[in-house]
Amino acid sequence: MSMGSPFCCAECQEPVKLSIDAAWVSTVWCPVCGNSDTLFNVSKEADAYLAAWINGEIDSNDGAPSRFRFIPSAFARRKPARAFREAP
Ligand SMILES: [Zn+2]
Repeated sequence: MSMGSPFCCAECQEPVKLSIDAAWVSTVWCPVCGNSDTLFNVSKEADAYLAAWINGEIDSNDGAPSRFRFIPSAFARRKPARAFREAP
């Protein structure tokens, strides 16, 4: 897949992953810290972040306010490179 994830973990600024279980429940999760929620809730939260940004409540230099766990990827501060690799 060449398309990036539309959401990022607000804490890690890492693109989230998506899992779909046998009951078709879509779960979004952060591969770094393990933060997770349903795709529905994550979408709502990203929408709320966008709404707050449009309302001028978010300072783009200040990163994500702590009340958000997930943010739209367009607002993530990109890390230049992965700082470490996990040992096998
Ligand atoms: Zn995370």
